Amino acid sequence: MTVDYTRYDEGRGMNYWEVDPVLRREVERVYSDDEYVWGEDRFDEFGRLVGERVADNSDVIDDNPPELDTYDKEGEVINRVRYHPAQHENDRIAFENGAVADSFRTPPERDEPMPVTHSLAHYYLICYTDIGLACSVSMTGGAALVLEQCDDDGRLDEYFDALTARDLDDLREGAMFLTEIQGGSDVGANETTAVPAEDGDGYRLEGEKWFCSNIDAGVALVLARRPDAPEGTDGLSLFVVPQDDGIRASGDIFYRRLKEKLGTKSVPTGEVELRGVRGYLVGEPERGFKYMTEMLNYERLTNAFGSCGTMARVLLESKVHAADREAFGKVIEEHPLMKKDLVDMTVTHEGATALSFEAADALDAYVRDEDDEAYRAMRVLVPVAKYRTGEDAVEMAAYAMEILGGNGYVEEFPVERLLRDAHVAPIWEGTSNILALDVLRAMQKEAAHNVVLDRIDGYLDGVTTDAAAPLAERVAEERDGLEEAMNEVATTGVEGAQVRAKQLADYIYDVYTAALLVAEAERDARDGDGRKTVVARRFVDQHLGNGRLTDETPLEWFEEIAKYRTVGTDEL
Ligand SMILES: Cc1cc2nc3c(=O)[nH]c(=O)nc-3n(C[C@H](O)[C@H](O)[C@H](O)COP(=O)(O)OP(=O)(O)OC[C@H]3O[C@@H](n4cnc5c(N)ncnc54)[C@H](O)[C@@H]3O)c2cc1C
Repeated sequence: MTVDYTRYDEGRGMNYWEVDPVLRREVERVYSDDEYVWGEDRFDEFGRLVGERVADNSDVIDDNPPELDTYDKEGEVINRVRYHPAQHENDRIAFENGAVADSFRTPPERDEPMPVTHSLAHYYLICYTDIGLACSVSMTGGAALVLEQCDDDGRLDEYFDALTARDLDDLREGAMFLTEIQGGSDVGANETTAVPAEDGDGYRLEGEKWFCSNIDAGVALVLARRPDAPEGTDGLSLFVVPQDDGIRASGDIFYRRLKEKLGTKSVPTGEVELRGVRGYLVGEPERGFKYMTEMLNYERLTNAFGSCGTMARVLLESKVHAADREAFGKVIEEHPLMKKDLVDMTVTHEGATALSFEAADALDAYVRDEDDEAYRAMRVLVPVAKYRTGEDAVEMAAYAMEILGGNGYVEEFPVERLLRDAHVAPIWEGTSNILALDVLRAMQKEAAHNVVLDRIDGYLDGVTTDAAAPLAERVAEERDGLEEAMNEVATTGVEGAQVRAKQLADYIYDVYTAALLVAEAERDARDGDGRKTVVARRFVDQHLGNGRLTDETPLEWFEEIAKYRTVGTDEL
C-alpha cells in the first residue's frame, strides 16, 4: 500500500481511520482477534465522522466557544454554560458511537465490554481535530473507571450508569475538580472540606477549585477533606458531586468565571466555589488520593493518545502540503531536507503510538485482570508515555506550522489551532517534571523498573530474522546502559535522583520504544513485510545514535516510511 497525499487539498474531509495505517496496526497488535473484527467497522465509521463532521464543527466551535451565564436576567444565579449547536453535534457523534460506553458496557453483538484501550483509540481519532472535545470524553471515561474500580458496594451505580450511557439524553458527562489555587501538582495542599450533611444524605462540600474543565458536567469527582482528617494526601477523600439545573441554581455551587485559554476552547474550564454543595463519598474515606490516581492513570493515557492523534493530524497536514506546494521548481517533499523532516516526524509519531498502546494494554491487564506485572509496567509506562508524547506533540505541531510556511501561522489553516491546543498536553494531568518524578516513585515503591527491563528483554529475545537481529543487538546494548542508569539513580541521594529524573524518563522511552518497534519489525518480517524494520532502524538511529550526522535513509526510504509503502523483506 501507499498513501497518496496528492489526492487531498487539506487534512480533512476524509476518513482518519483509513488514512492512518499506524493506528490500524497498533489496534490490531493489542486487540484480540474477535475484538479487532468487532471494532474495525466501527472505527471505520467513526474515523469518517471525525474526518468530516467533527473536523468542520471544531473550527466553528473554536470561533464560538462556550460562554458562561452566571446570572439570569433577574439576577438569580443559574451557572449555565451556553454551547454552539455544533458542539452538541460533536458530543452526539463521540458519545453515541460508543467512545466511552463500549469500554464499560457490553455493546451490541458482544458478550462483554471492549477493553479500555478501545475508548483510548477513539480518543486518538477525536484528537485529529479537537483536544477540547476529547477532554470531556476523557473525563467521562475516567470518572466511569473510578466508579467501576472503587465503588465496591454499588451505592453510586446510578452515576456509573449515567456516565456510561450511549444515548446522549441519558448521559451525564464527567469532570474532576482537583486543583486549588494553592496546589495543582501539590494536591496534598487541598483545603476543600466535606462535613456530613445535616439530613444524613451524603456530605456538604466547601472550598474553591481553580481549574475545572467540563465545568458543568453532571458527575464531578471532587477531592475534599473530612473533619479531623490528616494533612496532606493521606487526609483526602473523594466525592461524587452531581450537577443538574436545580443544583446549579441552588446557590450551593458557584461558577465564578471561565478561563480565557490559549486553546482547547471547546471545553469550558472555570473556577468553582463549592458553597455547601452535596457530595457522596466514593469508596472508603481518606482513600481519595489513591482513587484519584486510578483516574489520573487513565487521564494521562488519554493525554498520550490525544498527543499521538494530534501528531497524526499535523503530520497529515504537513504531508498533504508538501506533496502539493512547489518551491525551486519542484514539490517541496522532493527536497532532501524536507524528506528528512517528514521521515523523522513519521517515525516519531509511530514510536509514540506504539508506546502509548503498550501502556494502555498494561493498564487494561491491570484494571480488568488484576495482573500485578502489568500494574508495575503501567506505573512506569503511563507517566513516560504522557510526558514524551505531550512534548513531542507540541514540537511536531510547531514544526508542522513551519512546513505550511506563512500559511501555517494563519488562523484559517488548522495547524494554528492544533498548536494552541497541543500546548496543554504537557501541563494538565501532571506537568512533565511531575511525571518524571512519578517514574522515580514507581521505581522506589514498586521496583517497577525491573518489570520494564524484563519486558525489553522479552521483546529482544525472540528476534532472529536477518533484518531485525542486528537492530536487536544494538538495542540490547542500550538496555544494559539503561539498567546502569537506573541503578545510578536508585543509589544516589534524593536530589541527585530528581535532577536526573527527566533524562531517565527519556532514556526509558527511547529504549523501550526501540525494543517494541524491533519486535514489531520481527513479527512483520516473518510475514514478508519489511517496512517496520526500516522504521525501527530509523528510530534506533534517531534516538540511540551517538549524535553523528544523519545517513541517507530519508532519501532511500522516503516513500516507504513517510507514505507507508509496503517493503518486501528481500528489498532490505
Ligand atoms: C486548560 C487547563 C485545564 C485544566 N483542567 C483541570 C481540571 O479539569 N481539573 C483539575 O483538577 N485541574 C485542571 N487543570 C490544572 C492542571 O492540572 C494544573 O495546572 C497542573 O497540574 C499544574 O499545577 P499548577 O498549575 O498548580 O502548577 P504548579 O504545581 O505550581 O507547577 C508550576 C511549575 O513547577 C513545577 N514543579 C512543581 N513541583 C515540582 C517539583 N517537585 N519538582 C520540579 N518541578 C516542580 C511544575 O512542573 C511546573 O512547571 C487544568 C489546567 C489547564 C491549563
